[in-house]
Amino acid sequence: MSDFAKTQCPYCGVGCGLEVLPPAMPGKAVKRDEEGNPIWQARGDRAHPSSKGMVCVKGGSIGDALDKDRLLYPMVRDSLKDDFRRISWDEAYDLIAQKIKGAIATKGPDSVCMYGSGQFQTEDYYTAQKLIKGCIGTNNFDANSRLCMSSAVAGYIQSFGSDGPPACYEDLEETDCAFLIGTNTADCHPIIFNRLTKHLKKSRGTLIVVDPRRTKTAEKATLHLAIKPGSDMMLLNGIAHLLIKWGKVDQGYIESCTEGFADYVEVVKHYPPDVVAEACGISPQHLAAAARLWAKSKRVLSLWSMGVNQSTEGTAKCRTIINLHLMTGNIGRPGAGPFSLTGQPNAMGGREAGGLAHILPGYRVVMNPEHRAAVEQVWKLPEGSIRPEPGLAAWDMILGLESGDVDVFWVAATNPAVSMPDIDRTKKALEKSPFTICQDAYYPTETTEYSHLILPAAQWGEKTGVMTNSERVVTLCKSFKRARGQAKADWKIFAEVGRRLGFEAQFDAEATSADVYAEFVSLTEGRLCDMSGLSHVRLAGGPIQWPMPVEATEATAVDRFDKRLYTDGRFLTASGRAQFAKFHHKGLAEPPNPDYPFVLTTGRLYGHWHTLTRTGRIKRINKMHPGAFLEIHPRDAADLGFEADEVVEVRSPRGKVRLPLLITKAISPGTVFVPMHWGFLWADDMEANALTHSEVCPISKEPELKACAVALSKVVPEPAEVELVQESLFARLGRSVRAVVGAR
Ligand code: SF4
Repeated sequence: MSDFAKTQCPYCGVGCGLEVLPPAMPGKAVKRDEEGNPIWQARGDRAHPSSKGMVCVKGGSIGDALDKDRLLYPMVRDSLKDDFRRISWDEAYDLIAQKIKGAIATKGPDSVCMYGSGQFQTEDYYTAQKLIKGCIGTNNFDANSRLCMSSAVAGYIQSFGSDGPPACYEDLEETDCAFLIGTNTADCHPIIFNRLTKHLKKSRGTLIVVDPRRTKTAEKATLHLAIKPGSDMMLLNGIAHLLIKWGKVDQGYIESCTEGFADYVEVVKHYPPDVVAEACGISPQHLAAAARLWAKSKRVLSLWSMGVNQSTEGTAKCRTIINLHLMTGNIGRPGAGPFSLTGQPNAMGGREAGGLAHILPGYRVVMNPEHRAAVEQVWKLPEGSIRPEPGLAAWDMILGLESGDVDVFWVAATNPAVSMPDIDRTKKALEKSPFTICQDAYYPTETTEYSHLILPAAQWGEKTGVMTNSERVVTLCKSFKRARGQAKADWKIFAEVGRRLGFEAQFDAEATSADVYAEFVSLTEGRLCDMSGLSHVRLAGGPIQWPMPVEATEATAVDRFDKRLYTDGRFLTASGRAQFAKFHHKGLAEPPNPDYPFVLTTGRLYGHWHTLTRTGRIKRINKMHPGAFLEIHPRDAADLGFEADEVVEVRSPRGKVRLPLLITKAISPGTVFVPMHWGFLWADDMEANALTHSEVCPISKEPELKACAVALSKVVPEPAEVELVQESLFARLGRSVRAVVGAR
């Protein structure tokens, strides 16, 4: 083990470089967490090209929770009512193999599902694809990235012929107009926001922010468009309408590099400014101002994340953002391009490794016979082993449990008992599961409460592997501490199960993570995401951006590819041209109505990460964000007779929560906001997804987690119910942790 490790932050997709220092540094006292574990110190890595030494509170505090509440041994129980009992790894592997074989024998391979995570390293993702899609013979592998950015993937594939964001972080410092839609970048991708705002301030560039809330991002905007939730397509088509009307399009680019523009012109004719402004709830002047900024700027960079992607129109929105870039020629140049930001540290690596139910390694798709054949060959499997139909997407897996079609549900490094929509329905489906495996570093999580077998996973810092961040920069994340208890790397667990199922030739017992990575990059050769020139050895010298073909050096790769994709105006579609999309506005799947008159929107807070599995165990972050709340406009609060800090009930057709009020003009009248982090382990009645619905984008299958209709009413709180969340949280954890200690 080295004394000092360079790695990538394992939280958001910005992928900042971190340096991790051991607890015992010469001349300094060892800091310890509440359980007495020594705390590793993390700081920004100045040499990392993506973050240049910057780091936010999440990255800076990660050392505080590496050893707390760790799951140390495999444990099993016969039913969800029973207590867990410790078993050996050998018994756990045999049990998994037996359950998978049984499920295949009775219902076929599609009765087995794996639900993975953007927290995986690329080696974990890749090994899971080989096991599930190749050896077991079902495409039922999906990841929590489905809930996060699958609309962006679908948008890129349909518009450009391939996944892959065209821009890079240097564009943050080259743009003269940043168009941020559906992203609270200041809170959720803070280091990107720092780089962007520093540049815009210095260069006097403009920042357009489209968000129903006046977030910290919107506070910095030159122009904030507080549109009504669900009106994004109106706005995007409305901006296109004005650009075409004013003749502010790049005719040369449209003619030589794209197809379908004439059809799109027909669509946007239906979006005149008065209609659009009314539908969006903004003034026609503000709409025109946004279009003027697009028209006059030489380099427009669009950034978006879940506010766009988590929608029943998610793919349509991504493609229409891309339309604006194609029609103005704002792509493939410094400072310009459509740029989706990934929520998770290795969501990009997951896309490269085939980590969704419709894709295969190397930006391939399961429906393409040549793609399947290429992968089968490398996996040493007979032709026809990989199925041609996409497998179950995340929400479809829950429906499969509900209907009894799924017999084995294997969850790894994620927490669907909090993050799935319509959480009461999700929990009922999990209760019906004949056999759920939960592989996680921590115990308890909400999902372990619904599991039959729990497996201790080595977490970040305890295994060596690779991650790719939002700008396609690949970082080798080295192991710097021993795994706790009997925890193992996820990919090793998948490989051993593969061997127990009889696939010794596919999963070499002697293979290292470097070997697994080498096999993976061989499958990227000649593809857009060509990483055939990368290896653990080469990445040990520092992070490298792809494309990086086998013969390239960093200098020749930049010469050949620039740092951006599509610089030559050629795309990976059949014709080599980018495709204009022609989508009309549809709006929210569940608009407000007399019974549920408010639109609820959900989102993230600066300090917390996803479902609190790690950040919920960090004191300084809990102090910053002790609990969930309901943001409401003062006018709505007054109309309902609500007062500041009062606890109110929020109901949707699916469930209810009770939350303290935060009355603020930062939110528009008619809209309310709840942060999504809190599950039942951490607080009572604060689960945002008790309210959300499960409608998905028909193309990307991403659920519309961002909006649903709710009603609000007063509740009379009992004294016990208003205790500090912080206190109830530690009491709750204390009980759970004792349960684990007793089991050791
Ligand atoms: Fe980690 Fe994202 Fe914060 Fe960077 S911005 S330190 S990647 S959480």
